[in-house]
Order: sequence, then C-alpha cells, then structure tokens
Amino acid sequence: MDRALQRADAGHGHRKLAVGWFSFTCCEDSTILLAELLNDHLDEWTKVVEFRHMKTLKSRNSMEDLDVAFVEGAISSDSQAEEVRRIRENARYVVAIGACACTGKPSTSRNQFVDEQINERIRWYLDHFDYGRDVKPLDGVIKVDDMVRGCPMKVQSFEQTLNKYLELFEVTRHG
Ligand code: SF4
Repeated sequence: MDRALQRADAGHGHRKLAVGWFSFTCCEDSTILLAELLNDHLDEWTKVVEFRHMKTLKSRNSMEDLDVAFVEGAISSDSQAEEVRRIRENARYVVAIGACACTGKPSTSRNQFVDEQINERIRWYLDHFDYGRDVKPLDGVIKVDDMVRGCPMKVQSFEQTLNKYLELFEVTRHG
C-alpha cells in the first residue's frame, strides 16, 4: 500500500485533492475502515486524491497546504490540541471523522470523574501519559467544517463528504 500510494501521489500531472488523515485519542476504527475501503477504491481515488498525510499507510508524510484534513479521535491533551491547531492552519477545510471527534464521547466521560473515583490505576495512567485536564471534541479546540458521524464513521457519509470536496475544488474524475 505504501509504495502504491507514493507512486500515485507522484501524480499524473493534473490537480488532485490534497488530503490529510489524522488520528487522536480513539480506537482508530475509522482508519481501519478507510484502509478497507482502499481495497476497493485505491485506483479510483488515487486518480483524484493525493493522500499527502496518512501515517498508517505510508512513511513519507507532509501536512503542508492541505485542501481537506480528516481528523478522527477526541483531543485529550495540550500537545494534541497544539497539533490539531497546526493541522487547522495548514488545511482549507477540516472534517471530524467518527463519534470520538464529533462528540468527544466516550473519552469525555473522564471529565465527570470526581477525585474519589480516581483510583490508583487511573492515577497511574494520568501520571504516565500526557493527558490534559479535560477531553474535548474536535470543535472544542478548532473550527470544524463538516462532520462524518458514526462509530466507526458511516461509509456513505464519508463518500458523500469526499465527493463534496472533490466538486468544491473542481477535481474531476477524468483529471
Ligand atoms: S468513533 Fe467509534 S470507531 Fe471511531 S474511534 Fe471512536 S470509538 Fe472507535
């Protein structure tokens, strides 16, 4: 997949939609679903989409000058918030992917913990990982232009959203 994507990204000379895919606090099932979709759509999509940033599928990535950033996962630390703000600065449009990014749940349930509920085990996690005080949905940190809901994301909704941006950027299937 890595080499197929690098080859496709090298391009056919026509305008493609520059896309980034990012994951924060979540189980990354929408990323797995996207990989499954690529089994069926790789040839079709790589003619019109440049996957400029997609760490799960390729090793050379850039978040420069993205047309659309797809972001899955809740934001659970200051460093994640900083990173997602950088993504926002580099992307014309940002789409929240899946329930974790759209609503923050289930990770935001930790925001309701009171001190007596934080046992030794939970304390260990809080102390050893870079967690912020509160978990936030994506639009709690940056402006979000679209949401693809579902857990994992609804495939039809993702495809509609991708098509919407292909049309918006006037990227044609025939290039
Ligand atoms: S929305 Fe559901 S499938 Fe997607 S990362 Fe969150 S828990 Fe996992």
